[in-house]
Amino acid sequence: MDFQLLPSSFDNNGCASARQHLTSFVIDDRVAVDAGSLGFAVNDIQRSRIRDVVLTHAHLDHIAGLPIFIDDLFSTLEEPVRIHAIKEVIDVLERDVFNWSIYPRFSELSNTHGPVIEYRVIKPGIDVRVAHLNFRPLKVSHKVPSTGFVISNDATAIALSGDTAEMDEFWQQINEIKNLAALMVECAFPNELEQLATASCHMSPTRLARELEKFDGGGCPVYVINLKPMYRERTIADIEALSIDRLHILNVGKIYTF
Ligand SMILES: [Zn+2]
Repeated sequence: MDFQLLPSSFDNNGCASARQHLTSFVIDDRVAVDAGSLGFAVNDIQRSRIRDVVLTHAHLDHIAGLPIFIDDLFSTLEEPVRIHAIKEVIDVLERDVFNWSIYPRFSELSNTHGPVIEYRVIKPGIDVRVAHLNFRPLKVSHKVPSTGFVISNDATAIALSGDTAEMDEFWQQINEIKNLAALMVECAFPNELEQLATASCHMSPTRLARELEKFDGGGCPVYVINLKPMYRERTIADIEALSIDRLHILNVGKIYTF
């Protein structure tokens, strides 16, 4: 399974920056998880192949690129872009984004081949097939209704927390996965911004370390995602100070094969 965190900004040389301002992952150039930079950062192959977008939640840094992605494809789509999310997230998209004020209500529009988007409601704990992958949505603890996922194919499985604070159910569920190849878990703020992390339902390195005590996972590597760009260096320093061998920072743009 190829897994990539798409870039979302540029460095001073005009190259993809290591900073993660927006969140979108692409799996096997075919399925997107979150759509923060989806419309801006996909390559041509990804744009031509991605027809399934699975959302963790509706915060802007996770959906900002979705309207542009659909708009770019509008006239050429031969099948709809399927948006998989819990009902609360779909309701927000329809009420606050695809409402004709912010952007067209694509659910009412068709091209010559038919509808251009299709909503698929997912529910925590209920497995769904998305393209060639199996997704198990898992409840996490963020400021708004959100899900993490266990994503698997016939050979392997990975887990992704999405944005979250402390969790219980997520850990219980992923501890039962036997072939887990990687865990992606968020850590938005450095320890000195503990209060902000608490108020916004995100992790700090200290809290992440406590959470990882709930994770069995054997030698499964853990990759940290969602480091807020403004505090990236300080957060990484705090994470390195934890001295947890299997804990890594997920590199923006790099294709990981699990
Ligand atoms: Zn969020």
